[in-house]
Amino acid sequence: MNLFRVGGIQLAVHFSFFLLLAVNAFDGWADAGWPGLWWSSGLLFAFFTCVVLHELGHCFTAMRYGVSVPRILLLPIGGMAEFDGIPREPRRELLITLAGPAVNFALAGLLWLVLPAGSRLDEDSAAAVPTLLESAHLLMLWNVGMGLFNFLPAFPMDGGRILRALLALRLPYLRATFWAVTTGKVLCVIGAVLAAYYQSFLVALFIFIFIIGELEYRAVRRRELEEAHWRAVLARLHANSYPPPLEEPPVLRS
Ligand SMILES: [Zn+2]
Repeated sequence: MNLFRVGGIQLAVHFSFFLLLAVNAFDGWADAGWPGLWWSSGLLFAFFTCVVLHELGHCFTAMRYGVSVPRILLLPIGGMAEFDGIPREPRRELLITLAGPAVNFALAGLLWLVLPAGSRLDEDSAAAVPTLLESAHLLMLWNVGMGLFNFLPAFPMDGGRILRALLALRLPYLRATFWAVTTGKVLCVIGAVLAAYYQSFLVALFIFIFIIGELEYRAVRRRELEEAHWRAVLARLHANSYPPPLEEPPVLRS
């Protein structure tokens, strides 16, 4: 469902997002009645606002390099910015990728500056409705967590993209993508096993990252093959329609 546009980018939510809203609201209501429902919904809204700001960090940096970004899609597990072709230059991809977590760290830093010391969340009262200060403190911690979690080198998460960009400085793009995706898959399997013990919600996230990583690798491979094909076609056309290039460039004489 399309919501609204920010800087020319359409913000959209997947319908499964409404399921998360409902489950989260019900949890809040079960904990502390109507106030619990409003607080848990408000916190979820604040959290996903930070997710959108993270994605906008990527988008606005990408747009500076002339990449158009038609849409940001919000899913229960996070946001996905849809780029019209990420630049093949590792340095640019690095900057576009770093801009997302940088937004989270900036938000956390800002909250840290404005929040009075001693507004820490009281662990004992975590089940009840938190105060506004406690919520802001929670939001600060979430932003640090979001920034750090995204650095996990599990392609296509930001950390994985950074790894690919660094590898691509030395390796061909497809090889670099292969190794970044493979590293990500190994981490996803380890992460899913650990999550099964500690936080079952994250299992779905790791499975999702695994699948998206594989899909993106296939897309890169397909594009590489197509480009190689068209280069070969152009080279043949070129060879047929022009005389072969001179061994030595002609010298101008006066
Ligand atoms: Zn990101």
